[in-house]
Amino acid sequence: MSSRRNFIEKLTISAVGLPLLAHPTNIFATSEAPYQGPMLKVALMGLGSYAGRVAEAMQDCKRAKITGLISGTPSKITEWSEKYNVPKKSCYNYEDFDKIKNNPDIDAVYVITPNGLHKDQSIRVAKAGKHVICEKPMGINAEEGQAMVDACKAANVKLLIGYRMHFEPKTVAVIKMRKDGEFGKTKFFQGQSGFNIGDPTQWRLDKELAGGGAMMDIGIYSINGARYMLGEEPVWVTAQETKTDPEKFKEGVDETIQFQMGFPSGAVANCLSTYNMSNLDRFFMTGTDGFVEMQPSTGYGPIEGRTHKGPLTQPHVTHQTLQMDGVAALIFDGKQPIVPVDGEEGVKDMKIIDAIFEAVKTGGKVEIKI
Ligand code: NAD
Repeated sequence: MSSRRNFIEKLTISAVGLPLLAHPTNIFATSEAPYQGPMLKVALMGLGSYAGRVAEAMQDCKRAKITGLISGTPSKITEWSEKYNVPKKSCYNYEDFDKIKNNPDIDAVYVITPNGLHKDQSIRVAKAGKHVICEKPMGINAEEGQAMVDACKAANVKLLIGYRMHFEPKTVAVIKMRKDGEFGKTKFFQGQSGFNIGDPTQWRLDKELAGGGAMMDIGIYSINGARYMLGEEPVWVTAQETKTDPEKFKEGVDETIQFQMGFPSGAVANCLSTYNMSNLDRFFMTGTDGFVEMQPSTGYGPIEGRTHKGPLTQPHVTHQTLQMDGVAALIFDGKQPIVPVDGEEGVKDMKIIDAIFEAVKTGGKVEIKI
């Protein structure tokens, strides 16, 4: 009966709401005044595939814009500076980018290079007095992550990690539900994160540049997800590795790892990270009073999911657009997202990854202090 009532209520809202929103004189549609405040001036470092996605998404940002480029490839600088209207004086390479120090047209640098380069590049950005936005994983271990946090603190700049899911509407709605106790006492999280990786010569399969394999790249979503879904920090991990192709996945480059995490409340998580299976992008969580299932759970969207109360209906907005406007709100207004995206948050994930690698080596239970 109650689900039928919910259905009818939803139907009524959408039947009334759609024509209203479409109407040009609708007060709801026109009430938002154009943004007049400061724009976050961002230089993109590493003009690869993800930077391309970020750049396109930033075209729809209200509070952030691309004002600088850093790349080792002159032809990319030419192409991107024309496409995104970035003057040559705000374009740099990996040797001379410390000169951003004297460029008032750059407030922050978004580091979107291979993982093994993040630490040194982020510290150089901090020393140049600019805020650092750094892709996940923030580095290749917790020690690197902590060095980045310390350097940014010393330079009095912000360090923010590219956790775009912390701004994604359905994810945020689920976190709010959990905070409001709608799942009751959360008991179990299951995370499955993986895809089939192609080209064996790419940096993602190079230990030095990637810091590992699937875990650094995609398994980190299940780690971060377990933490924001359950709302606790793990106190132990166990982990097992499976390697079916040691030629492609060399020493130190993980192909598939299953891992388990235990939390202070007694909740447990069971997760899979892989570079050798497809269609793995799923979160499930259950508590004493309800459940949530999301699939896809962390891809570029739309995210899909349902809880014991029905489907998640929040609208899809390009994640990186929300993220970069959110980063501007954080830097300009101190407005924090529902789950932090700061360097300390990044270090927590790195500590867990360190412990997972240790558990794979030892075969035992590894305690974590976060
Ligand atoms: P990519 O290979 O497409 O791009 C990497 C860029 O770094 C290239 O432009 C390359 O020229 C440059 N680069 C500089 N020095 C290099 C070196 N020594 N070796 C290789 N490349 C070098 O990779 P990508 O997919 O854009 O990933 C970049 C970062 O973004 C990674 O840290 C990755 O984890 C992260 N990422 C995050 C998301 C997300 O959803 N948040 C998605 C994809 C990638």
